[in-house]
Amino acid sequence: MSVVVNKQRPINPIDYFPSGLVLPAVPLAVAEPNALLRGDTAAAVEEMFATAASDGVSLTLVSGYRSFQDQVSTYEHWVAQYGGDTAAADRISARAGFSEHQTGLAFDVGQDDGACTLSSCFADTPAGQWMAANAHRFGFILRYPLGAEGITGFSGEAWHYRYVSVELAQAMRKDGVATLEEYFNLPPAPGY
Ligand SMILES: [Zn+2]
Repeated sequence: MSVVVNKQRPINPIDYFPSGLVLPAVPLAVAEPNALLRGDTAAAVEEMFATAASDGVSLTLVSGYRSFQDQVSTYEHWVAQYGGDTAAADRISARAGFSEHQTGLAFDVGQDDGACTLSSCFADTPAGQWMAANAHRFGFILRYPLGAEGITGFSGEAWHYRYVSVELAQAMRKDGVATLEEYFNLPPAPGY
């Protein structure tokens, strides 16, 4: 659960399929096959969403596990959106074999009313603010913080969270270290 996937560290093997994927019992904004998560991650998501709900914040799961083939399609979609500009697509979407979503440990979170889904303004929604303040308590980190593109390779994604365990998430928070690359003294991965 502390594996580091980035543009310099592809998933190994590249078509890796995580075992023990389960469907978390939380509100979904995506078809079930793309909401699966590893068992440990799903349990933490359920606990976190329930706690958010008790705080009056309604979260939804926007995207969970994505297979290698799903990521091929996702990346191609974004390249097409940008008129074939792969450099632009690379800032916001991983190439197949380089996406944390393929590990089953990462997910995109949204607000139940759909406000600012997968948009930078998600950071300012009650859901985005609750996640920023509380996700570490459940073992999650905001994997692509704003301003860390030179390290993570991705522009800020206020909605993309990664399970790393409560111990590691709390330790990173305590040390004020935002990225896995910095915490594990790995080279920055701004590009492929
Ligand atoms: Zn994501």
